[in-house]
Amino acid sequence: MKILVIGAGVAGLAVGWRLAEAGQEVLILERGQPGRGATWASAGMLAVTAELQNSHPDEIEFARYSNALWPNFAKQIEDLSGQNIGFAPHGALILAEDAITLAGLERQIVQPDSELVGADRVREIAPLVTAGIAGGLWSPHEAWVDNQRLALALAAAFHKSGGRVLANEAVVRIERDGGRAVAVRTPFGLYPADAIILAAGAWSGLVEPAVAPVVPVKGQMILLTPPPGQSPPAAVIWGNGIYAVPRGRALAIGATVEAVGFDTALTDEGRDGLRHAAEGLMPTLKNWTLSDHWAGLRPRSPDGLPLLGPTAVDGLWLASGQYRNGILFAPAVAETLCNQVLGRASVIPAFDPRRFAA
Ligand SMILES: Cc1cc2nc3c(=O)[nH]c(=O)nc-3n(C[C@H](O)[C@H](O)[C@H](O)COP(=O)(O)OP(=O)(O)OC[C@H]3O[C@@H](n4cnc5c(N)ncnc54)[C@H](O)[C@@H]3O)c2cc1C
Repeated sequence: MKILVIGAGVAGLAVGWRLAEAGQEVLILERGQPGRGATWASAGMLAVTAELQNSHPDEIEFARYSNALWPNFAKQIEDLSGQNIGFAPHGALILAEDAITLAGLERQIVQPDSELVGADRVREIAPLVTAGIAGGLWSPHEAWVDNQRLALALAAAFHKSGGRVLANEAVVRIERDGGRAVAVRTPFGLYPADAIILAAGAWSGLVEPAVAPVVPVKGQMILLTPPPGQSPPAAVIWGNGIYAVPRGRALAIGATVEAVGFDTALTDEGRDGLRHAAEGLMPTLKNWTLSDHWAGLRPRSPDGLPLLGPTAVDGLWLASGQYRNGILFAPAVAETLCNQVLGRASVIPAFDPRRFAA
């Protein structure tokens, strides 16, 4: 089968890779360069515990499943590409400033090995945290990856499996014949296909016909680099409205959540808000140097759940709406959509893109 994927972010590359591995002829058309959308801007956390509280049960189940797939997914990408993607299962700690918040964290446990810990244990796990803290929820095996290395390695793995990416090729329209999607049109040509997968992240709703009701949600992040003699914590830390993720020698702090359309401008307010919140938690960060500041657009559906599966247009599939969890969800998105396109799996009702068709 000839399969066309629109968008070379983590979703398009991972689905394309699985389909190429399954013997399909896969071509990804990418408007810019592979992996440079939200995937590049992300924090790279596989944050099952912090991100999935209050979520739909199917999404929690999906997150757990994807998280379980991650170690092998990472190993396969590294083996095939020969590149390290920095998979780091060194834990995540959600801080509670008082006893009531700490008790409330118990309801957030979605991983069997998570546990509530007191202030002494917090100091061991996160020595930089000196703010008044009652304790935290510690998930010792929660992981993160270097999302930028992931994007590059995933593109390499996809190539090794026989897939092709055409960069700087923006899809403007999906052509139909008798109601069925049969080709995609770019300013440079027409590309026929047996199946088409729209995985254009926050821009998925801009491709005609409009089958993806996604809106962009901007996130800004900053990077703080320590002075000599200091180093980032070994685990991810959540508290004071921010998260802090180790990135090499430095610490990435995220993230703002802004509904401002496709605007990716960096703002002083965003930068200073993140920095002040991080310093409130870890006062020593005042001595660290601001070494980067960036923004990206998360793809959000109207109900916040993924859009994963067939659309109302025959032959056209959607992998979008992963919102804040597109890196975590990548292995499960790839496996699920690959199996659906090949007729081996049925759609997950809560994620069915056609739930908004009416
Ligand atoms: C600041 C921030 C922090 C985040 N942190 C995390 C985190 O810690 N953990 C996590 O799991 N998730 C996180 N996310 C969310 C995650 O990054 C996204 O959910 C995920 O990257 C979406 O992947 P994608 O492939 O769908 O989209 P993208 O990575 O945006 O890729 C879409 C691609 O489609 C291309 N494209 C768009 N339009 C067209 C077109 N017409 N034709 C061809 N190509 C097109 C784009 O150029 C882009 O390369 C974060 C996001 C942000 C912004």
